[in-house]
Amino acid sequence: MKVGIVGAGMVGSAAGYAIALRGGASEIVLVDKSEALARAQAEDIAHAVPFAHPCQVRSGGYERLEGAAIVILAAGVAQKPGESRLSLLSRNAEVFAQVIEGVQKAAPQAMLLVASNPVDVMTEVALRASGLPAGQVIGSGTILDTARFRWLLGDHLGIAAQSVHAYVLGEHGDSEVLGWASARAGAITVGEFAEQVHAPITEEVRARIDEAVRRAAYRIIEGKGATWYGIGAGLARIVQAVRDDQRAVLSVSVVTPLVEGVEEVALSLPRVVGAGGVLTTLIPDLDPSEAAALRASAEMLKDTALGIR
Ligand code: ADP
Repeated sequence: MKVGIVGAGMVGSAAGYAIALRGGASEIVLVDKSEALARAQAEDIAHAVPFAHPCQVRSGGYERLEGAAIVILAAGVAQKPGESRLSLLSRNAEVFAQVIEGVQKAAPQAMLLVASNPVDVMTEVALRASGLPAGQVIGSGTILDTARFRWLLGDHLGIAAQSVHAYVLGEHGDSEVLGWASARAGAITVGEFAEQVHAPITEEVRARIDEAVRRAAYRIIEGKGATWYGIGAGLARIVQAVRDDQRAVLSVSVVTPLVEGVEEVALSLPRVVGAGGVLTTLIPDLDPSEAAALRASAEMLKDTALGIR
């Protein structure tokens, strides 16, 4: 499968690298407004290929995207320290109009995988600009926040993050909602699991995990300017679910007809991802405070998206 990546900065190149290492594509094409950057990233990633799986890694103009099944949209301007994702919006919406036109001239059928922030609103921008069906314009959404949540829960419980089934819902950003009520470890609630291993989830533990998930991006940006490895791996995970028609349940963002009373809004919920993109959306059990928080998140995203239409 051919995968295109527009925006060969830290996130785009980390995605390309993760896809190459996982054997997620037979061809990866990097496009950037800086051709020199795209060329250098492609060459650097290509040098990892002999240690991984056969794959062509190239760079070039939009015409090189012809035949791509998925194009990752990672172009944009970087988040500044302390800047909220939503304040990035107007700058990145302009970039997207131009990028999607270029992509669709070369690869009109390609599924779009949106990574640029604020990712939920950018997913809606991409959907409207592309005219593709909603399930084929997928934002990375909270795939990374969900990974952070599982990692922290696994660490607390002393088990692999892979054995924790918990999702972060709503916005990828400040209003996101950690789905504690639906969180499971093995087949039991995380609360029951925690009691059995004598590591109760006290109010303090819960607050610490919530804060660690919610503030992760800000913390990493403070230390290294931006985040890229986690999201790169998350994007590669989505690509693989599509390529192999895995029907994996992943928290990703798509424009959703109705969420907690809010219509037509892009946000993250657990969704079945396979060859056709998002195939099904699942509504997890929510306690009343989570339902209210998800509604508030959806309303905020809806208002923001309406503001730029
Ligand atoms: P991030 O950390 O989100 O990856 P970067 O600034 O490292 O942010 O990468 C964003 C990339 O998007 C840059 O390499 C930039 O050149 C690219 N870019 C910005 N605008 C456009 C555009 N209109 N077309 C293609 N690439 C673009």
